[in-house]
Amino acid sequence: MKNITKYPVLERFYTWQGEGVHLGRAAYFVRLYGCPQHCPWCDSAGTWHPEYRPAQLPLLTAQDIAQTIADEIPAQAVVVITGGEPILFDLQPLTTALHATGRRIHLETSGIAPLRGEIDWLTLSPKPFGTVPLPCVVEQADEVKIIVATPQDIPDGLATLQGLRDEAVIWLHPEWSKAREHDGAVLNAITEAVKANPRLRAGYQMHKLYRADDLDTHSDRRRIPLGGNRELGF
Ligand code: SF4
Repeated sequence: MKNITKYPVLERFYTWQGEGVHLGRAAYFVRLYGCPQHCPWCDSAGTWHPEYRPAQLPLLTAQDIAQTIADEIPAQAVVVITGGEPILFDLQPLTTALHATGRRIHLETSGIAPLRGEIDWLTLSPKPFGTVPLPCVVEQADEVKIIVATPQDIPDGLATLQGLRDEAVIWLHPEWSKAREHDGAVLNAITEAVKANPRLRAGYQMHKLYRADDLDTHSDRRRIPLGGNRELGF
């Protein structure tokens, strides 16, 4: 019997890329589900917050996903495969089907497994407090996004990047809830780090300022309580 890969899809929505080198480009996000890293600020809140775990998820084939995109999304928009942790899945069927529609494919990953599939742009977001990225993924990264919740996250993230190509861009992104704290500690730490090392760039989640994702009714528009709640155990 033929083996047909199916993907657990948490969300699919059309918006624009709010971060990184491709900031502002029209983008269709395919958010897969499931990640062992449990970052307490993950946009896929079911990875860490018990109240956001979906009761059930659609399992879609690569053809299901590609057909929706071919029918509904302009050809110039990029497709961003994100998580959950998409690199845990065999992405070969999905990337083959998406490329057959002429789409450019970007991947956002913490790099904890070898990549299966062909992509056009790899954004690596290392998680030094959890499983660090594999060297084979670091070498493939086109850009890196270090999430900065405390100033120490900057050196810890950089320490995971041995083998990164010289042309890869390294972004320091303030974690959304910390970016808005009044003392400015995280933003100031990013500014000082960029001034000390001009290879680094200061980033921001511009789509959240716009609430761009919310305009697509398919996105999860609940206000997720980023940052976790240690008293409740998550
Ligand atoms: S590694 Fe990425 S997908 Fe996984 S929990 Fe952290 S932010 Fe979410």
